Amino acid sequence: MHHFGNPRFELIRHDVVEPLLLEVDQIYHLACPASPTNVVGTLNMLGLAKRVGARFLLTSTSEVYGDPLQHPQVETYWGNVNPIGVRSCYDEGKRTAETLTMDYHRGAGVEVRIARIFNTYGPRMCIDDGRVVSNFVAQALRKEPLTVYGDGKQTRSFQYVSDLVEGLMRLMEGEHVGPFNLGNPGEFTMLELAQVVQETIDPDAKIEFRPNTEDDPHKRKPDISKAKELLGWEPKIPLRKGLPRMVKDFRQRIFGDHNEDIASSA
Ligand code: UDP
Ligand code: UDP
Repeated sequence: MHHFGNPRFELIRHDVVEPLLLEVDQIYHLACPASPTNVVGTLNMLGLAKRVGARFLLTSTSEVYGDPLQHPQVETYWGNVNPIGVRSCYDEGKRTAETLTMDYHRGAGVEVRIARIFNTYGPRMCIDDGRVVSNFVAQALRKEPLTVYGDGKQTRSFQYVSDLVEGLMRLMEGEHVGPFNLGNPGEFTMLELAQVVQETIDPDAKIEFRPNTEDDPHKRKPDISKAKELLGWEPKIPLRKGLPRMVKDFRQRIFGDHNEDIASSA
């Protein structure tokens, strides 16, 4: 953690599912590992925002659109979500979080902001949590085959992390509640992503097909007109520029700093 030495930085280890008493001006509510439900944590953070008069920013997700029947996805689209599927604890949890956020806004006058974040990647990402970009990068570096799920023709649109951070801050500081899609409209099939990873790390990396997970969205691409117009925001870093930055960080963490020269010449 590169902020630990900063006297203006304080880290509190806390589970948001338990109530939390703090004095704050702004709440970036990012808390939720990618999967489990997140309704109670959001309720507590909204309760906190209401008590201290803080502005509350919810990081929702493109998953609220489910397996979308509209392409690209605009904020006015209500989505296509299976309420009893394996992904629904996440999808419906975030949809409920949006509902709570709007109810606290309308009912209690809490100042709120809602971002719908699309697939994001970058340095310091967890190496083994199973997301596709981190999987492919770690696999290529370790000389393992890239695991493509299904036929690899499903699409995602990948946003570099610094673009997202810029968007979240503009949203927090701006005047608009949202929801706003925050994502990069550059759309890739998983096979195309595998190809970009091959070009970036190892042209000889093999591809291995695996069965896909249930209810996997077939297509995903944000329409970001609203964020462009009202937040003056759009992503600046395309996949082919962002990926090498992530690879550099993954190399260092997978092989260790002392092996960096060997690793980067590999
Ligand atoms: N809450 C919290 N910190 C606060 C204020 C509230 O964690 O500073 C929690 C509180 O424990 C409750 C939730 O937020 O579970 C919702 O609070 P609210 O005051 O809106 O609802 P109430 O407690 O009246 O049901
Ligand atoms: N995926 C893949 N290989 C992997 C991990 C994921 O082909 O090793 C696919 C997955 O089936 C999905 C896409 O990549 O179609 C994005 O998956 P991820 O879990 O990164 O994000 P999400 O499903 O939340 O968009």
